[in-house]
Amino acid sequence: MAVQTVARPSAASQISELLDSPELHGLIAELEPWTGRKGYGARVLIGACLVKSLYAIPTWSRTAALIAEHDALRVALGGAPSIYACYRFATKLRQNRPALDACFDALVASLRAELPEYGRDLAIDASDLPAYANGQRFLSKNGPEREKFSDPDASWGHRSAVSTRKGGGFYGYKLHQAVCARTELPVAWQVETARVHESSLADDLLQRVRKRVKPQTATLDKGYDVQPVYDACERAECLPIISLRKTPAVKRGDHLPPTCEHGEWRFAGTDYARKLTKWRCPTGDCAPFSKWVKADRLHPLVPRESKRWGDLYRGRASVERAFGRLKNEYGLKPLRVRGLERVALHADLCILATLAAALARARAVPLAA
Ligand SMILES: [Zn+2]
Repeated sequence: MAVQTVARPSAASQISELLDSPELHGLIAELEPWTGRKGYGARVLIGACLVKSLYAIPTWSRTAALIAEHDALRVALGGAPSIYACYRFATKLRQNRPALDACFDALVASLRAELPEYGRDLAIDASDLPAYANGQRFLSKNGPEREKFSDPDASWGHRSAVSTRKGGGFYGYKLHQAVCARTELPVAWQVETARVHESSLADDLLQRVRKRVKPQTATLDKGYDVQPVYDACERAECLPIISLRKTPAVKRGDHLPPTCEHGEWRFAGTDYARKLTKWRCPTGDCAPFSKWVKADRLHPLVPRESKRWGDLYRGRASVERAFGRLKNEYGLKPLRVRGLERVALHADLCILATLAAALARARAVPLAA
């Protein structure tokens, strides 16, 4: 049987397609009066941002050098910006956040139109971004204390162990992200210095999510198992799917289903409006044979014993894969900029390329089918 294959489009033609999409076109039009100089229009410079992320290039100097010597890229962009034009443009972007945010809003809205399940079930987590700086307190072993830190916004934080990598302290920033568990695409995100604990940002992040989509569930690991995160989920009108920490109440078994002489009671449905779960005696011989339990951290509306909870919790892996993709394919790592604002813009540009490319793929599918 002949297998029909379609040639992979070149990166240059992909970039010119992205630049011509209505979402990026809007951003280009918004920024055009800012860039001024001839030959360095907003289209060329947004194009350079896409090249930097799609080729996973850590620095503007290498990005500018690649475009200068790459004929197809130069044609796709309509010019080759100098390194300094790239630097100036990055500054303009940082000063003009509303334009970039409006572009993200437009990308999310278009993705929802193409992929109806996008944003329904979320997975939320934070990931480490080690700083382009040295955070050691002493200049050398037993040496003098460091007085000047090259990145004053970076701080020490903790990361958990993943696979064969040991957990521990790191110096830098964290990217806090809410991704769609189905499509693995970012919905809302925030960069903070590493010392800020992820649970304290969940409310901010969910409020940003709510401006773009109305999620039904949010899945988080046990680092977020604190009451304020449950409250944040309630404010955002989505169901919390959060793994339990071993608190004294959990050690006592307060989270377990009710029991009677007939055994452990079974989950028998949820009243979402009244925020109650129903539990039933396994044989139905008790009087009364069922009771309602008020929802809280130990007894969530989607009980941890239910299949739905298990299915949704498995979806949490999507946020780890999304981090991996940003870091390994879109050049989120290694950081080669310093300062919270520059690091945040770097993350924004990586995500801009991710979302724009995903939208182009979603739009291409119906034609190919
Ligand atoms: Zn019973």
